[in-house]
Amino acid sequence: HSNLLTQQVGSFYFIAELIVDLELEYDTPVTDHCGSCTACIDACPTQAIIQPYVVDGSKCISYLTIELRDEIPASFRGKMDDWAFGCDVCQDVCPWNRFSKPHSEPLFNPHPDLLGMSKKDWEEITEEVFQKVFKGSAVKRTKFKGLKRNISFLNSSD
Ligand code: SF4
Ligand code: SF4
Repeated sequence: HSNLLTQQVGSFYFIAELIVDLELEYDTPVTDHCGSCTACIDACPTQAIIQPYVVDGSKCISYLTIELRDEIPASFRGKMDDWAFGCDVCQDVCPWNRFSKPHSEPLFNPHPDLLGMSKKDWEEITEEVFQKVFKGSAVKRTKFKGLKRNISFLNSSD
């Protein structure tokens, strides 16, 4: 799936960078742990992983629902697996992620109102509700307009 993965915790972790003026002891570059596995390639709803270690970002649901500012191309209709913001299917199916561990950071928990929202609630979401349930969330990256676009796209048939 082209994300960094480790044998200890898979790929569900944050990547950070430290800028320091110390000479540190560093370890070796990560090695290939995929072997003959093609689970992520096979599972990608939009066939965005075009060859091992290469994701065509323009086909990836995460790009289409978060970064793209225009309309989502009609060619993706019916292929989005109902994802309205992002997609982690390729990581969900990765066998290394059976070693991933749940976080213990309360700030990462979803707003309680989110968990009770019905399909109708999502279709009718207002900017006020959006601002409330996604306060401090990365979902704000797509903005209210973007989320509405994504939901409409999933519901439209033409
Ligand atoms: S995030 Fe989803 S759409 Fe993007 S490469 Fe992974 S499985 Fe495919
Ligand atoms: S699903 Fe398989 S091929 Fe894809 S990243 Fe994980 S181990 Fe590698």
